[in-house]
Amino acid sequence: MKRVFSGTRPTGKLHLGNYLGALQNYVKLQDEYECVYSIVDLHALTTLTDTKDLQQNINEMALDWLAAGIDPERSIVFVQSHVPEVAELHLLLSMVTPLSWLLRVPTFKEKAKQQPDNVNYGLVGYPVLMTADIILYKAEVVPVGEDQLPHLELAREIVRRFNTLLGPTFPEPEAKLTPFPMVIGLDGKEKMSKSLNNYLEISASPDEIVAKIKTAVTDPARQFRKDKGHPQVCNVFRFHQYFYPSQVADIAQKCANAQIGCVDCKMMLAREVVNVLEPFRQKRAQLAARPDYIRDVLADGAKRAKVIAEQTLNEAKQRMGLL
Ligand code: SF4
Repeated sequence: MKRVFSGTRPTGKLHLGNYLGALQNYVKLQDEYECVYSIVDLHALTTLTDTKDLQQNINEMALDWLAAGIDPERSIVFVQSHVPEVAELHLLLSMVTPLSWLLRVPTFKEKAKQQPDNVNYGLVGYPVLMTADIILYKAEVVPVGEDQLPHLELAREIVRRFNTLLGPTFPEPEAKLTPFPMVIGLDGKEKMSKSLNNYLEISASPDEIVAKIKTAVTDPARQFRKDKGHPQVCNVFRFHQYFYPSQVADIAQKCANAQIGCVDCKMMLAREVVNVLEPFRQKRAQLAARPDYIRDVLADGAKRAKVIAEQTLNEAKQRMGLL
C-alpha cells in the first residue's frame, strides 16, 4: 500500500467544512492506503500568541477524528511535536530551500498582512515544516483541497532540490484532490472557517445545528416566498446535495417554481444534518468519557511514527554529510 500523510492544525472542534472537505476523505483513504495522520501543533504556533487552549484543541480534534471513523489500529494518529525528528528535518531542509521561494508564497504574504506585529520565522518557514511533515514518513500521496495545491507544489520543489543536490532520498508527494474540495460557509460567500464565524461544528447539538442553519444565506435574488429561486447559486442547496441527495431533484424543482420557502428548505436541511451526524455525536460522547484511551492512542501513534521518522532522518543526515 502507498503511504498517505495529512496534517491538520489543532483549531479545536471541527466544522462541516473540515468534515466534508477532509475528514470523510481521511476515513475512506484508510481502505486504500497506509495512512499517517498528524495533529500539527507546531504549525499552530505560527499564528498563536496565546497557547492556553492548545492541549484542549488537540484533544477535541483527536475526538472528532476517532469518532468520525479514523481507526488507530489501521492508521498512525499522532501529535506532530511528539515526534521531534520533524523539527530536525525541517532545519536540514531549510538549508536547501531558497528564501525567495518562501517569500513569494501567497499565504505568507496574507498572514504577514493579517498579523503585522508577529511576522515570525515560523510563518515564512511554514512550507518547509510542511514538507518535513510529509517526507519524514516518505509519504507518496497527500490529500488536498484545490486551494492547497500550490503548497504541495512547493513541497515537491523542495524535495526535487534536495534529491538533485544531495542524491535521491525522498519520493515526490503526489496530490490527491478530495471529491468535495471547498465548502462554502453559512454566509454563502467564503470558505467555511472559524475565523470568519461562518461555520457549523460537527459536534454541535441538534438545537445548535437548527439555530445555525437558520442563519444560512440562500439565493440572494430570492427576496420573497413568491419569488422563484435559483438553487444552482444557493449554498443551502449545495449542502442538500451532500446531506439529502435523494431529494435534491425535487427541492431544485420546487425552489425554481417557488413551491417551497427558504425557511422550510433550511429546516429540512437541519433535520438531515442532525440525522447524518447522530452516530458521530454518540460515538464522540462515548470517547470523551475515556480520556485515557485518547492519550494512549496518541502515544501509540507517536511511537509508531517515530520508528519511521528516525530512519528517514538518518538517511537525510547521511546525505548531508552529518553521519
Ligand atoms: S428554497 Fe432552498 S434551494 Fe431554494 S433558494 Fe431557498 S434555501 Fe435555496
